[in-house]
Amino acid sequence: MVMEKILVEGIVQGVGFRPYVYRLANQMKIKGYVKNLGNIVEIVIDSNFENFKERLVNELPSIADINTIKTFNISDRHFDDFKIIKSSDSSIGNSTIPPDVAICGECLKEIRDCYNRRYKYPFNACTECGPRFSIIDNAPYDRINTSMNKFPLCDDCLDEYENSDDRRYHGEAICCNNCGPEISIYSKSKKINVGNPIKKAVEELGKGKIVAIKGIGGTHLAVNAYDDKAINKLRERLNRPNQAFAVMSRDLETVKQYAIMNESEKDIILSRQRPIVILNKKKNNDFPDCLTPGLHNIGVMLPYSPIHYLLFDESNIDTYIMTSANIPGEPMIIENKDIINLEMADYSLIHNREIINRCDDSVVRFRNDELSFIRRSRGYAPMPYKISEKYNINDFNVLALGPELDVTFSIATENLIYPSQHIGNTNNLKTLNFLKSAINNLENILKIDSYDLIVSDKHPNFFTTKLAHQIAEKYDYEFLEIQHHHAHAASLLNDNDLDEAVIIASDGVGYGDDKNIWGGEILYSDVKSYKRLASLEPQLMPGGDISTQYPVRMLASILSKQYNKEELEKILKNDYVDLFKYGSEEIDVILSQLENNFNMNITTSTGRVLDSISVGLGICSERTYEGECSMKLESVAYGAKGELDIPFTIENNQLNTSSIVKDAINLFHKGESKREIAAASQKSLAEGLAELAIRNAKNVDTIGVTGGVFYNEAISKYIRDYVLDNSYNFIQHKNTCAGDGSISLGQAIIAKTKKE
Ligand SMILES: [Zn+2]
Ligand SMILES: [Zn+2]
Ligand SMILES: [Zn+2]
Repeated sequence: MVMEKILVEGIVQGVGFRPYVYRLANQMKIKGYVKNLGNIVEIVIDSNFENFKERLVNELPSIADINTIKTFNISDRHFDDFKIIKSSDSSIGNSTIPPDVAICGECLKEIRDCYNRRYKYPFNACTECGPRFSIIDNAPYDRINTSMNKFPLCDDCLDEYENSDDRRYHGEAICCNNCGPEISIYSKSKKINVGNPIKKAVEELGKGKIVAIKGIGGTHLAVNAYDDKAINKLRERLNRPNQAFAVMSRDLETVKQYAIMNESEKDIILSRQRPIVILNKKKNNDFPDCLTPGLHNIGVMLPYSPIHYLLFDESNIDTYIMTSANIPGEPMIIENKDIINLEMADYSLIHNREIINRCDDSVVRFRNDELSFIRRSRGYAPMPYKISEKYNINDFNVLALGPELDVTFSIATENLIYPSQHIGNTNNLKTLNFLKSAINNLENILKIDSYDLIVSDKHPNFFTTKLAHQIAEKYDYEFLEIQHHHAHAASLLNDNDLDEAVIIASDGVGYGDDKNIWGGEILYSDVKSYKRLASLEPQLMPGGDISTQYPVRMLASILSKQYNKEELEKILKNDYVDLFKYGSEEIDVILSQLENNFNMNITTSTGRVLDSISVGLGICSERTYEGECSMKLESVAYGAKGELDIPFTIENNQLNTSSIVKDAINLFHKGESKREIAAASQKSLAEGLAELAIRNAKNVDTIGVTGGVFYNEAISKYIRDYVLDNSYNFIQHKNTCAGDGSISLGQAIIAKTKKE
C-alpha cells in the first residue's frame, strides 16, 4: 500500500483545521494522523486518495487558508484509526498565526441562553472564533503557547475538547465559568464585590462615568456617546480637546440611524475582523458636537468580544465611545495594575487573562469604492502579504523598521511579508520599547532568528533609523536606507501587482534625497528604484515644525510669494492677527525671517498646503492631532455643489501652490461660500497633481496615488477622474495603508528585490 505524507502551510493552526482533517478522514474511512509540526500541519494517510486532497482544499473551515501543499510518498506503517496527535516543536515552514476573530453566532447564542452552561460567560470561544494573535507567544498555536495555559480545562470543557463531534474539538482557547478567566470591576485600585461586574459597569456608564474595559487585544475607555458632559470630562482627562472619538454601537440597525453606508461598508463593519469603519454621518443624528468636532464622518465598530455583547445586553444605551486607553503618545495599556491605576477612568472592568500581543483596533475607510487601511491591526495582524510573482526576489530574511510616526515594522521571509500590528509614534520611549518587544514576539512566532538585511527610513534622526543601525551593528547585518516615498510607492505597486507606475506621493513629511521635507512628489517608480520627476512648489516653513502646529505661519510664508511685504503685512494684521500666538509682534518676526531666509525648512508637503487653505478659510488654526486641519477642510467641503473654480498653473515642472492658496483666500474675502472654496481648492490641488503626473508619464501608462493625503475621499476622486479622463490607468491602495502604516511593508519589498 502507498502511504502519503502531506505538509500544509498557511492559516492552518488555531482555526479548527486539525479537527476538520480528522472529520474528513473519518468520513472517507482513511486511517493515519494529523499534527501540528512547528509552523505547518502534517497529515499522514494510509492510502493515496486523490480526492482527499481535493476535498481538503475545497471544504476548508472558514477562517483557514492554505498557501502551499506538498506531498511525499512514505514507507508503510500500520494505523488502526485516524488520530490527532501531539504537536512537535520544530522550525519547519512559515507560520501563519491567525488574527483575533470576533465571537461567532453559535457562541453568541450560548451566552444569551439562560439554559446554557456558558450563559453570560464573557470569554466564550470555539474553533471558529475568539482571541488568537493577542494571546500567543510562540508557535504552534497550542494552548500551552498562549495565555490560556494558566487555565486548565475542567472536565466538561475537556470532554468537548476531546469529542470529535463537538464544535470545541481541539479548540485551544475554549473555557467556561468553572475553568476560564474571570472578570472583575474596580473603583480606582479597589475591587468592588458585585455578582455581575458588567452590569455594574453599565450602571456607572449610565451615570456619566468613564470606565476602562480590558478586552481582547487591549483596553478601551468607554463613555456614553450621547452624554456631552461625560465626553468633555474624557477630553479634559486625556488632554485631547478636538480629536474625534470612535464609537461602538449595539448593532447595524443602530448604525443605520446615524450613518450612511453602502454595501461594501456594511460587509466590512459586520466582518469577523470588526474594524473601525469611517462612515459619513447623517445630518440629523443625536450625538453631541463634541463627539467628532468639525468632522462630517465618524469611526464606527460593532461589538466583537463577548464582553462587549454582554455590556450592550445589560444596557439601554445603544452607542458608547470606545477609545484606546493610553497616556497620550504612549502605547495602549494592557497590564491590570496599570488599568486599575489609570487616572482617566472612574472604574475599570478587567480580567485575569494576559494580553501578550497588544493589538489596537483596526481602522478602514473607503475611497473610490475601494478599501484602504488607516490602521491595520486587530483582526488582520499578523496575516502576511505575498510579494508579487512579477518581482525577482532574494531568498533572504529582512527586518524593516518603518518611519517614525504611525509605525508598523515588517518581517519578510521567502515570498511573504508580515507587517506587525500598529505600534504608534516611536518618538515616545515606551512606544519604542513596545516596538522592540513586538519584534521579539513576532520573531518567536515566525521562528526567525537572523536576518540578511535590516532596513530603515532615510531620515537620520528617526528613532527607528537609530534602532535599525544598532541591530545591524550588534549582529553584523547588512543595512539599507530607503527613501520614504519610494517605500510608499513599492507598497502600492505590490498591492496592485504592477511592475512600474508614475506615482503621486502626497503626505505630510518624508525625508528627501536633498535633505528637504518632501510630501508632494511625482515619482517614476518600480520596486527597485525610483526617480523624482516633479513636485509641488517648494515652500518655506518659518521656524520649522512649529509651522505644522500653527499653520497660519505656513499661510504667511506661502502668501509671501504672491504679495510684497507691505501688502502681506496688511493682510495678516487685518485678517489673521488673532491666530498668531504673539499677535502682530510675531507677524513682524515672521516677515523679517521670510525676508532674510532665516531659520527656515523647505517643504513640498501637500499636507502643509491643505493646512494653509484650512487656516486661511478660518476652519482650523491649530493642529492638536495629526491631519486635523486638512481633515476639517475636507469636512467643510463635503456636499459642495462645485460652483467655483480655482485654476492651477504649472511652472518649471512644479505645481504653483501659492497661487491656489492666494485665489482661495481672495474668494473667501469676497464673501464666497466657504464650502465651495474648500471644494474648489482641493480640486485645483488634486487636478494640478494629476496633470503634473500626466505630463511626466511619457511611456508609462499607469498613474498611482499613495500617502496619507489619499485618505481624503474628495482628493482621491478628483485625481482618479482626471487620470481616467486622460486615458491613463489609475491605481490606489486596496488592501494596504495609504499612509505610513505601509512604509515598513514597502521597505521590505524593496529590500527583497535588491541584488547583493
Ligand atoms: Zn465561536
Ligand atoms: Zn470549563
Ligand atoms: Zn508618508
